[in-house]
Amino acid sequence: MTFGSYIGKIFSVSKSIVIGMTITMKYFVESLLFNKHTVTVQYPREMDAIPERHRGIHYLETEKCIMCWKCSDICPVDCIYIEGVRGADGILENGWRGKKATLSKFNVDYTVCIFCGLCSEPCPSVCIHLGPEFDFHSTDRKLMEKSLLTDAIYTEEDEKFVHWAREENERLKEEKAKAKAAAKAAKAAAKAAEEGKE
Ligand code: SF4
Ligand code: SF4
Repeated sequence: MTFGSYIGKIFSVSKSIVIGMTITMKYFVESLLFNKHTVTVQYPREMDAIPERHRGIHYLETEKCIMCWKCSDICPVDCIYIEGVRGADGILENGWRGKKATLSKFNVDYTVCIFCGLCSEPCPSVCIHLGPEFDFHSTDRKLMEKSLLTDAIYTEEDEKFVHWAREENERLKEEKAKAKAAAKAAKAAAKAAEEGKE
């Protein structure tokens, strides 16, 4: 290499560095002074717009739910847990009233949910949706189960209510069956007495 070409290379490399750094400085100054070219979002103070079809944390329109289990049946990871009573009147007091059911539990376990959106597809009432919310996290797996009825983490108090509801449903069913049997027996006795008179 001649001395002239050596100097020429130094000049050419220096020129490239100067051009590159000029562009970097231009972007730096424009970002700093005019907030241009900024791609970093200062979450959680700032948030990007969530696309309309984003599949995030579920929300349930409880009043429309008919407790058909279609959403939980189709879930590929079995992470939807539903309990309650089906029926137009709804036996359960203090439960969450759906269209044809009273719900005591409607949870999604977010330690396993893969946000595939399949649960919302077969819902006949179009009442389970994957919404825009995505910020649901915890360092404790137990806190990753969410009740779509209360729109909050499923607590021990909720679990107690579900146990109570199960027992209460059984008790009320038995009571109803007994009352029905007693009414049937009374009707039969009245009929027999009627026949005896004749
Ligand atoms: S989004 Fe998919 S994995 Fe999550 S609850 Fe629905 S069906 Fe199950
Ligand atoms: S599919 Fe819809 S109506 Fe049926 S249980 Fe699920 S949310 Fe309720």
